[in-house]
Amino acid sequence: MQDISSSLKSAGKTIGFIPTMGFLHEGHLSLVKRSKELCDATIVSIFVNPTQFSPSEDLTQYPRDIEKDNKLLLEQKVDYLFYPDADEIYPENFQTFVTVNHITKKLEGEFRPTHFKGVTTVVNILINCVMPDYAFLGQKDAQQAAVIKQMVNDLKIPVNIVVCPIVRETDGLAMSSRNVYLSKDERKDALALYKALRNANKMIDEGERRVSLIISEMMTIIEKLKSSKLKYIKIVESKSFETVEELKSSNEYYILIACKIGNTRLIDNELIKVE
Ligand code: AMP
Repeated sequence: MQDISSSLKSAGKTIGFIPTMGFLHEGHLSLVKRSKELCDATIVSIFVNPTQFSPSEDLTQYPRDIEKDNKLLLEQKVDYLFYPDADEIYPENFQTFVTVNHITKKLEGEFRPTHFKGVTTVVNILINCVMPDYAFLGQKDAQQAAVIKQMVNDLKIPVNIVVCPIVRETDGLAMSSRNVYLSKDERKDALALYKALRNANKMIDEGERRVSLIISEMMTIIEKLKSSKLKYIKIVESKSFETVEELKSSNEYYILIACKIGNTRLIDNELIKVE
């Protein structure tokens, strides 16, 4: 991979990189499209990263379809697919990990304490392999994007991070590889995450600034469902990811939600600009 990237660079080409875990959907492809607009060459990686799953999570069941992914990437005219084996990324005697402090401790990090260490380690390794000028990430994983930006800044990794908007199904459900786990009824219930976010958005548009009230309305929508197990709903300042109690004018916030529908853990969020 490094040899390919070096020759692209010596030919004067800029490289755009999209790290994924495969089972690609329109959300992933939107990142590919953005890369193709901005960069001369686009490289996608598919790697289901074992170190970001805890022993109780779905590493072995995580959906995979490399043939279909390959076809989709060919249709998009992606230049290279980087598809390493786990033992190429983590050979025997591997012993170096990257940890970002503070921002990784809350929200997702509270529920998945080892998750971000796996993410930052693998993204750092993948960036070292691909040597991209730009890396494209989805706002779908807003905290992950913030953690990766923090790592890139702190370690002075020479790559520009571009965060692209969430792609949704026509009814509003955020696209995710994990949506395939949902039964027909759960698929209907999963829409509650989007409904709760829309409701919060409407309250804020109508002038509500008290976070506790906004969140309690969201909770009512989610907790009505028998299939739901809410993990968290938080409103955080968009850069620091610090929670707030009241929304202030001219500020940007994320409303973040994590919820299990049946056995499937879903996350969603919305970026709010308060006028
Ligand atoms: P994953 O394969 O789930 O690790 O995701 C790879 C990249 O695609 C991450 O940067 C995700 O944030 C992004 N992504 C996943 N789902 C979506 C979506 N619905 N819209 C936009 N980006 C997404």
